[in-house]
Amino acid sequence: MSQRPVPFGVVTRFAPSPIGSMDIVTARTALFNYLFARHCGGRFLLRIEDKGPEGPETASVRTIFEGLSWLGIEPDESPTFQSARADRHRKAVEDLLASGGAYRCWMTPDETATARLDAHAAGHALRSPWRDRTPGPKAEAMPYVVRLKSPLTGTTVVEDHIQGRVSLQNRDLEDQVLLRSDGVSTYNLAVVVDDHDMGITHVIRGEDHLSNAVRQSLIYQAFGWEAPLFAHLPGIHDADGIKLSKRHRAPTVGELARLGYLPEALRNYLTQLGWSHAGGEIFSDAEAIKWFDIADIDRAPGQLDIEKLNLINGHYLRQADDDRLAALVAETLAGRGQILTEGQRAALWTIVPALKDKGAMTLLDLAGQAAVLLENA
Ligand code: GLU
Repeated sequence: MSQRPVPFGVVTRFAPSPIGSMDIVTARTALFNYLFARHCGGRFLLRIEDKGPEGPETASVRTIFEGLSWLGIEPDESPTFQSARADRHRKAVEDLLASGGAYRCWMTPDETATARLDAHAAGHALRSPWRDRTPGPKAEAMPYVVRLKSPLTGTTVVEDHIQGRVSLQNRDLEDQVLLRSDGVSTYNLAVVVDDHDMGITHVIRGEDHLSNAVRQSLIYQAFGWEAPLFAHLPGIHDADGIKLSKRHRAPTVGELARLGYLPEALRNYLTQLGWSHAGGEIFSDAEAIKWFDIADIDRAPGQLDIEKLNLINGHYLRQADDDRLAALVAETLAGRGQILTEGQRAALWTIVPALKDKGAMTLLDLAGQAAVLLENA
């Protein structure tokens, strides 16, 4: 059992972009944030990173709510919608302009592209001439972006809790854009302001955001805010060693539910994708919460193993309450278009308890076995 001290006042968040589905890589991120917050007696929050105002009724947002609810990992407060905070993001950029941490840049897209090439040829990142120039009346009337005034020398370091030390030479970092010419803030600015305002202490998310963490650290520094601790999760690979992604082969929570996996089995299984504990492979939610620590997350990618998920699911099917299981089998049969008579429905409540120890791995297996017996009922 972990003897490490448990951090106090922990606040984690799950910050999905609503894309219409919730794959298991994303679900694992939510679960790890949830488990770590619970482990520390802290809070777990949800932020929907919608670009435009999606609102809670949009199908892609509902998919997130339903996925979390099915998985049994509900946030502790009502969700924050990033789109509703656009004014706050703009105000934060104005504050940085006022404090000298940012500047307005009137380079056109063409000028920017050319200057970037020249800068790279000279061995450093793009530097805007507007960094230290006072605009005349002509410029004032033209569209501009707001850039962060980043340090030109030295190194920016992030001590990631999983990936270790990540550092970038400031010479190689452009003064990043915080506000576009249409007045919309950039992703990094919005994330930093939101995480700060929500009091987030630990940012646990996919490793694809690791280089953003360095850029976000610079924004924290400019505001004079303390950055959260970062923990970037390694990916999940399929049996062929190919990284699963939103676009590539990652099964979604909805698909797994339809294939007949139980939420407690998926929770148990996903907890082990990149994290392990000497207590074994099957554990209760209470044990997961007691044992889960980000310090024990693997640096190596997890590997999706459907056989193992099946074994774990089979275990939870055998453990499941008879009434619940019979109702789930009835639902599964209805989902397959099988209309049950009153008598058949009643018979399920006798059949399912008798079948559940007969090796079914999923609700679909169990429903198939039950259907055969019902035909003869
Ligand atoms: N919205 C981002 C995503 O869905 C996550 C951003 C974050 O966790 O900071 O990939």
